[in-house]
Amino acid sequence: MKSDPVIITIDGPAGSGKSTIGKLVAEELDYLYFDTGVMYRAVAFAAISTGINTRDEESVSHLAEVVGIDLKPPTVKDGRDNDVLLDDKDVTWEIRSPSVDANVSIVAAYPEVRRALGEKQRQIGLQGKVVMVGRDIGTVILPEADLKIYLDASIEERANRRYQELINRGEEVEYESILSTLRERDRIDSTREIAPLKPAGDAVVVDTDRLNIQEVFTKVLEIIKGHRAK
Ligand code: C5P
Repeated sequence: MKSDPVIITIDGPAGSGKSTIGKLVAEELDYLYFDTGVMYRAVAFAAISTGINTRDEESVSHLAEVVGIDLKPPTVKDGRDNDVLLDDKDVTWEIRSPSVDANVSIVAAYPEVRRALGEKQRQIGLQGKVVMVGRDIGTVILPEADLKIYLDASIEERANRRYQELINRGEEVEYESILSTLRERDRIDSTREIAPLKPAGDAVVVDTDRLNIQEVFTKVLEIIKGHRAK
């Protein structure tokens, strides 16, 4: 009988429930929860806020190399999982804005950006007792992970979840525009040359359409139990 998986990766497209499930699993096992999307978002935000065009690969790559991105335990009780610091400035909510949504996949496709952020992610992951969430964690960042999960759902379902999340946060948004931004992010994320979004060959794929969070969580815990029992 095996022990608990020490490195768990959860990959999948935007809105597949990765972050919510990742957090719950990490809490359950008392592991570190690490959402790698935050790092790509921080680079996109840094570019936008300093007037760098996100299509300018050289400048964005340089920025990813020099910018300080830090995740700290939350200091404010406003629903955040962590404080996200960009050169010591709190950008936790700024990195969730529609302009970051529309630009993040562009910067995440640059090889030098992926290299700079990927190295940091791998270092953190190799320390173990971690649930690391992203697009390429099981395929590229931590291919040796003990357990790889890939969460999926239809684009309509994912757009609907994202719409509800933003409305609940009090933002004014339109479903159609969320759907088209998601479609474009899916397209860029899954067709880029480096580390495209796809399940690892040895990942367990979970289709989350028509399942609520509790149901997905239960399914994932069963998968973890199954891994222990092997
Ligand atoms: O997970 P989240 O939606 O916050 O990720 C934002 C974007 O960051 C994704 O659309 C993708 O372009 C990029 N990303 C990535 N690789 C990861 C995590 C996120 O390319 N491991």
